[in-house]
Amino acid sequence: MACNSGQGCGSGEGCGTNSCASGSPCSREDDTVQLSSAVKPGICVKCKEEPTSEGFELCCTCLHTNLVSKFKTAVNKNSLVTPADHVLLALSGGPGSRVALEFLREIRLKAQTDLDASRDQGTRVFGLGVVFVDEAGAQSSSQNSEHNVEEISSIVVSENERPVPLHIVKLQDVFEDKDLRSSPGLDEDVGTRSPEERLQELLGNVEDVTGKEDLVSYLRMQVLQKVAKEHGYTKVVLGVCSSRIAARAIAATAKGQGFSFPADIQYVDSRWPVTVVLPLRDCLARELDVYCRLANLKTVSIENTSFSTDKSKSINEISQVFVSLLQEQNFSREYTITRTMGKLKPFDFNTPPVGPIEVALRRRKGIQTPTIAANEVPDLLCPICSAPLDTRDFMNGGAECSAELSNGGEVPFANDRDDVLGSSRFPDAFKSTCCPSCSFQIIPKKGIKAESMYKILPEVMKERAVTNIRDRQSWMRSRIQEYLLPDDQD
Ligand SMILES: [Zn+2]
Ligand SMILES: [Zn+2]
Repeated sequence: MACNSGQGCGSGEGCGTNSCASGSPCSREDDTVQLSSAVKPGICVKCKEEPTSEGFELCCTCLHTNLVSKFKTAVNKNSLVTPADHVLLALSGGPGSRVALEFLREIRLKAQTDLDASRDQGTRVFGLGVVFVDEAGAQSSSQNSEHNVEEISSIVVSENERPVPLHIVKLQDVFEDKDLRSSPGLDEDVGTRSPEERLQELLGNVEDVTGKEDLVSYLRMQVLQKVAKEHGYTKVVLGVCSSRIAARAIAATAKGQGFSFPADIQYVDSRWPVTVVLPLRDCLARELDVYCRLANLKTVSIENTSFSTDKSKSINEISQVFVSLLQEQNFSREYTITRTMGKLKPFDFNTPPVGPIEVALRRRKGIQTPTIAANEVPDLLCPICSAPLDTRDFMNGGAECSAELSNGGEVPFANDRDDVLGSSRFPDAFKSTCCPSCSFQIIPKKGIKAESMYKILPEVMKERAVTNIRDRQSWMRSRIQEYLLPDDQD
């Protein structure tokens, strides 16, 4: 078949498809597609032989070549997966993660075959596992849970002669952390409640529909991290594509997450204990969707966790609908949004790791490797959503902290973790270390709901707050230190 010739898409030039393999979309391609389609309707614009279906410009083989090429470029350019890695793919059942699973399997199989042929004892092939987070516990009616799990299992365990391990976990597993001690402020009755009841109560305390949805996604990431850590994985792969990023960008703008948003849309995100990577960042939802159907890849449509029948109450939902509408009219609009977002400055923890080969090359070329640790995690991340905190917010939250400092010099508050958690000031201190978006949309305004919320939060979030409070106090102390005279001076 002509489409296997390796021409066109792999070249990185305008290739007549939605996007070329260079990783960044080319704007001139839309015209190419329309022109070529005009010549031979119903025939693939790339190989010009195979028929197309579903009104898509490419045949299945060419679409595969195109998507794999973008996937591999993202992976190789940014060292997303190396032979030493043990990769955990978060499978949602949707086309993005489904395609990611297929490509990771393909690349792994090819690497294994090459390795077997070369009999090179020193090299290895990356490990692969799949995780599915069952979110049914977040809703009061969870009747589809079993069915969803069966469907997901059938995808992972299918035909393949080299099956990969599948971890099925529940959203409420975030409350079962063996590594962490239980908090002093935890009520007896909270401690005896089942994780599912705690999850329901936690979400019940959040009044805003968008806030509830976001909290579910933050809990999901914590559960993914938990599984990855417990099973020794070194990378977590998410099937987030360009279209999802575009919708998130609109939503994040509305939620006031402008400062931290660039952190969420890069190929690499190493602010987590296990680094998160997005190899499908340059693929469109439409391409992935069509490919799944053309290649007969089974997907499972699991309804999003929804907390209101009125979709207009969710910023996430409205943004999604808005971007889909733009997309229907002109599909390069999604790229316009993501390209604009791509101009935002990422954080240090978004820098791809520099491998030994790269270091050697740079040395030969006389390029200095930056001395700052590339993956240095910033001091403060929001305890709920893990967004990096703006120094200005940090300063605002520090007002209370400086009052503590001025009150007797020594900090009585953060010396001991249990003192911090047990303190009656913990709720206020906790809120002061959260990002503005979480403070506004998730944390209840004072009262019974607020109190109950702090008691019920997962330990991992409370621990982060304690770390933030400590770091802030030592930071404040260091700031004051500048203005103090040394001890030996009168
Ligand atoms: Zn073709
Ligand atoms: Zn936050």
